[in-house]
Amino acid sequence: MPRVHIIGGGLSGLAAAVRLIEHDVPVTVYEGAGQAGGRCRTFYDKHLEREIDNGNHLIMSGNKSALSYLKRIGAEDPQRDVLAGPPFAVYPFVDVKTGQRWTVRINEGFIPFWVFDKKWRVPDTNVMDYVKAGAIAFADDDKTVAEVVDKNSVLYERFWEPLTLAVLNTTPEKGQAKLLWRVIRETFLLGGQASIPLTAKTGLGHAFIDPAVKFIEAHGGVVRLNARVRSVWMEGGEVTTLNFADETVTLEEGDKVIFAIPPTRLKDLLPDIDPPDDDASILNIHYRLGKPVPRDALGEGPFIGMIGSDGQWAFVRDDVISLTTSASHAIGTDELPNDDVVSKIWRETQIALGLGDTEYERVRVIREKRATPDQSPHGARKRLKPETQWRNLFLAGDHTDTGVPATIEGSIRSGDRAAELVLKSWPGRL
Ligand SMILES: Cc1cc2nc3c(=O)[nH]c(=O)nc-3n(C[C@H](O)[C@H](O)[C@H](O)COP(=O)(O)OP(=O)(O)OC[C@H]3O[C@@H](n4cnc5c(N)ncnc54)[C@H](O)[C@@H]3O)c2cc1C
Repeated sequence: MPRVHIIGGGLSGLAAAVRLIEHDVPVTVYEGAGQAGGRCRTFYDKHLEREIDNGNHLIMSGNKSALSYLKRIGAEDPQRDVLAGPPFAVYPFVDVKTGQRWTVRINEGFIPFWVFDKKWRVPDTNVMDYVKAGAIAFADDDKTVAEVVDKNSVLYERFWEPLTLAVLNTTPEKGQAKLLWRVIRETFLLGGQASIPLTAKTGLGHAFIDPAVKFIEAHGGVVRLNARVRSVWMEGGEVTTLNFADETVTLEEGDKVIFAIPPTRLKDLLPDIDPPDDDASILNIHYRLGKPVPRDALGEGPFIGMIGSDGQWAFVRDDVISLTTSASHAIGTDELPNDDVVSKIWRETQIALGLGDTEYERVRVIREKRATPDQSPHGARKRLKPETQWRNLFLAGDHTDTGVPATIEGSIRSGDRAAELVLKSWPGRL
C-alpha cells in the first residue's frame, strides 16, 4: 500500500493525515519543530509558570470543518468537551476611550431580528446601516472591505474594522471583501446558532493538536518531530526523495506527498512556486495576575472586544489575561518596543476588564511575525491550488485557495481537500 508523506504538522497537515487515516491509508507526518501544531500550539512558559497558547484563537459554531475534525479526533461534543463559549451568540465590547460597553446578540434562525432591536445590535447604528452592508455580498475579487462598506459609519468602527482585523489579520483598507463575506455567509447570515464564539477550553494544543496526533498514531500513522525537510528531489515530473539533515527518504512506487507548510518555507523547497507573502503579524501579550481574574470581567462572552485601543481582544484563562493585537504589522504596534507596548496595553486592559489599579505579576510577549498570509485582493489572487505540476505532490495550508480566510477552519479544509485529491488519484479509493 503506498504511503502519503505529509510535510508539516500544523493543523493543515494533521487534518490531511486524519482524513487519510480514516480511509486506511498509511501516513507519515514530518514536523520540523519539536512539537506539532505550528501556529496553533500550547506550551509551558517557564517565565509565567503557566501553560499558554502562542496566540488567542477564536472559532465560531458555524465552522463546520473545524467542529467535524474535533469530533473525528475524539471529542464527543466539541462545543462542550474541548471548546468554551456561551450558549448563545453574544459579543461583549467596550470602547476603551469612552468606557461605553455593549453586547451584540444574534438571534437564532435566518431572520435577523437582532438588527431591528436597538438593544441587540451595535449601539448608535440603525437598520439601514445593515441593509447597506449587504453590498459586501456582491464585491468583486479586487475590492477591499473599506471599498464596499460605509467607512464613515459607526458600524465601520464598531463592526467592520474589528471583524476584518480579527478574521483577515489586516485592515479593512487592505483586506479582500470577498474573503470576509465568505465567513459572514457561513456564520452571521445563518443566525445565532452558527455565530456562537468559541475558544479552546484548556488550550489549543489540548483541543486541536494532541488528540489528532494520538488519533494518527493509534491508527498506525507516524508523526515524526524534529524532522525538517531540507530539500526535495524530483525526477520524471514527480517527487522522488525527501532530504533531511541526517537522512534521505526515497519514495516508493505510488507514494504521494502533501506539503502543508507556510509560504516562506514552501518557497525554500520549491523556488518556482509563487505563493502569497506571509508577513502579516499578530502580537499577543500574556499577563499573569497574582490571583484569579474576576468571573464577570469579560461580560457574557469567552472574551471581550476592545475598540479605540491597541489591544483588540482580551481572553482569560484562570489567572492569565491574554491580549491580541491583530495586523500589528499594519497598525504600528510592531514598531513599539516590548516595554512600551506592554504598559500601554495593560492600561487598556485595566479599563476593559474593570480591574482598577490591579497590577500583573509577570508578562510574556509573543510576536508572531508570520501569523497569516497576505489577504488583500492581491494576496488572495496568489493563493495556490492544491494540485501542482508534480504528479504526486499536493499542497495544503491556510495560504491555499480554500475560498475562506487563513484560519483554523481554512487550514482544516485545506488538509481535507489535499487528502481527497490524493484519494482520487488512486482509482477506487474515494
Ligand atoms: C497569533 C495567531 C492568532 C491566530 N488567531 C486565529 C483565530 O483567532 N482564529 C483562527 O481560526 N485562526 C487564527 N490564526 C490562524 C491559524 O493559526 C492558522 O491559519 C493555522 O494554524 C495554520 O495552520 P497550517 O497547518 O496551515 O500552518 P502552520 O501552523 O504554520 O503549520 C506548518 C507546520 O510546518 C512545519 N514546517 C515548516 N517547514 C517545514 C519543513 N521544511 N519540514 C517539516 N516541517 C516544516 C512548521 O514547523 C509548522 O508546524 C492565528 C494565527 C496566529 C499565529
